Amino acid sequence: MASDNRIKHALHDPKWSYDEVNRVRPSNAAMVLPSEYTKDMEESLYCPECFTPISRSPKDKDRFSNGRSCCFMHRSSYRDIPCSLRTPLVDGKKYLSEEDAKQAITSDQLAIISSFMTERPHRPDGNAEPYEQSAVEDEDGPVAQVPIGRHRGETFALPSRITTIAGLCRRFDVNLYKYFVLPNTDVARKLSDILIDIATVTEECAVPRLYYGTVLRSRNAGIHPKPTNIRMTRLQAHPDIVDFTIKVPAGEQEEKGINDESAGRIVLFWGKITSNGVGLAVSGLGWGEFALLAEKYQKFLTV
Ligand SMILES: [Zn+2]
Repeated sequence: MASDNRIKHALHDPKWSYDEVNRVRPSNAAMVLPSEYTKDMEESLYCPECFTPISRSPKDKDRFSNGRSCCFMHRSSYRDIPCSLRTPLVDGKKYLSEEDAKQAITSDQLAIISSFMTERPHRPDGNAEPYEQSAVEDEDGPVAQVPIGRHRGETFALPSRITTIAGLCRRFDVNLYKYFVLPNTDVARKLSDILIDIATVTEECAVPRLYYGTVLRSRNAGIHPKPTNIRMTRLQAHPDIVDFTIKVPAGEQEEKGINDESAGRIVLFWGKITSNGVGLAVSGLGWGEFALLAEKYQKFLTV
């Protein structure tokens, strides 16, 4: 599975600019860690391997209280420049024509996801059925302009879906090898290349991404447990990280089957990584933004 934040340091040289023809290394550049970033560096940071201009995300350092920062990221305008630090593939899957891409969508080999549902959709008949019986997990999204053509700068107008993580988990063995364009990205990648193991994550990240993790333990944080209390679900974290916690009200987690008995199970979620005391966390996940993976599919993620 893909790990992220592969650019550990940036090259900083305010007097240099990227040369697309010769692709030479800036000779007097200083090495800068994400935590050393200051606003004035914004336009003078370069990838240590491909030397293209890169950005730090988030740009605003003050957003994080503990000094830990997010990631250096390649810029999409240089996506044609090969670099092994671009994760996990340079370009993802390309399509010959708009018809070709539409055909891939029709034949269930490609999905454009415009967003994940944050609220449970209202059923037309007004019935509130239990989660398992709710068929409404997927609806039409807006037509999306997606740059997945073989020619540089070419975009296709493609139908998108508004869906749920539970939907991705449903036929997980099939979905793992299907191509997805996720929200705020412009490449089509196999789900197996998109999923990030939370046990490889060492930093906050203000950009939502698709993660999975193995539950170590889960408990209701209330002294007199109520569904509205936060349920603290601890996931297997990176050895350098004290702990990683999913912080979502107990009722909402239990509805997805996450409870005191969930140790050893795998959770998938779409969210931002934030600090949580001395550890890391994801919190406030919406209704469609997390799910428990069926046990029969766990082997695909625990090789
Ligand atoms: Zn690079």
